[in-house]
Amino acid sequence: MERGKLIVIVAPSGTGKSTLISKLMHEIPELEWSVSCTTRPIRKGEVNNVDYCFLTKEEFLQRRDNNEFIEWAQVHSNFYGTLKSFVDKGLEEGKKLLFDLDVQGCDQMRDLYGDEANIIFIEPPSYEELEKRLKLRGTDSEEVIQERLTNAKNELSRKGDFDFLVTNDEIDKAVGELKRIVSEILRA
Ligand code: ADP
Ligand code: 5GP
Repeated sequence: MERGKLIVIVAPSGTGKSTLISKLMHEIPELEWSVSCTTRPIRKGEVNNVDYCFLTKEEFLQRRDNNEFIEWAQVHSNFYGTLKSFVDKGLEEGKKLLFDLDVQGCDQMRDLYGDEANIIFIEPPSYEELEKRLKLRGTDSEEVIQERLTNAKNELSRKGDFDFLVTNDEIDKAVGELKRIVSEILRA
């Protein structure tokens, strides 16, 4: 069986990554979503074990200490990690795996998988627009928004370090661009 593919999406929080990912998965149904584990509180509209596997900090740290994660990181005061079992099995079964990781997770994927990891950075049209989107989304407190904006500055400084760069200005245009890139990766 042909080995699977690894496609990683990275973007500062609020850029529109989740919105783009759900549209992309609709356009390319063979993509398989990697459900990460996290300790952050569940947001309105999210479903446990679909959007994330929501864990307590103790549960997360226990799984980390059991070596269950292929990569993990602390982002905005919460822990996030990708399950090793999911990735190994998916690659063996020829699946087209789609990940949403922060830049630390991307660096770990690059170290582990080299060129096999296809990493796409999505940037907002501007820092001001990012702030506007985080506020308009209305899911986070002002304190959390400020933390995410500070983190965004560091993440944006890494935008040139990955395989592809897409700007999420007009949503349909960004989805079209992502679809073109992912189709190219799947054909390679
Ligand atoms: P992320 O997953 O990157 O944190 P979301 O997908 O939750 O971001 O998007 C953040 C907010 O921005 C949401 O309210 C979403 O509807 C909005 N949004 C996403 N893409 C665009 C876009 N191209 N133009 C304007 N608003 C957008
Ligand atoms: P959010 O809380 O907005 O869903 O995600 C916050 C950040 O955590 C985003 O930058 C997202 O890419 C990142 N993230 C989500 N899942 C994982 C994961 O499994 N590993 C890593 N390293 N980062 C993740």
